[in-house]
Amino acid sequence: MLKLPVCPHCHAVYSYKEVSEMHQGDKICYHCKKKFSVRKTAGAFIWISVICALLVVFNLIIIFSTDDFNIIPVLTDLAAVTAAVLMLPLTVRFRPLKLTKSEKRSIRGKGEKIQADKKTV
Ligand SMILES: [Zn+2]
Repeated sequence: MLKLPVCPHCHAVYSYKEVSEMHQGDKICYHCKKKFSVRKTAGAFIWISVICALLVVFNLIIIFSTDDFNIIPVLTDLAAVTAAVLMLPLTVRFRPLKLTKSEKRSIRGKGEKIQADKKTV
């Protein structure tokens, strides 16, 4: 689940920095020039939910196991949240874009034109 996304068409690799700077929406692959959509919300929501659930369990264990206040659980929580935020780009996913009818027609049109050119030669 946690890995950097690759282009759904040609599997071109994108760096951590590139992925973290991407916005939700459509993007064109630098390698194959095909379109794909960048999806950030669903993966990030699941990731944050998992981290929150783990921290709640961790904090409940700490609260019920010790009576005196300790700074170490607070620092552990802070470190876990920081690590979770830094790992957010690993939850980004790329999906191939379905072409609209007009885009399909223009691609098919080009293909027919190329075939027609070959026939005339
Ligand atoms: Zn590509």
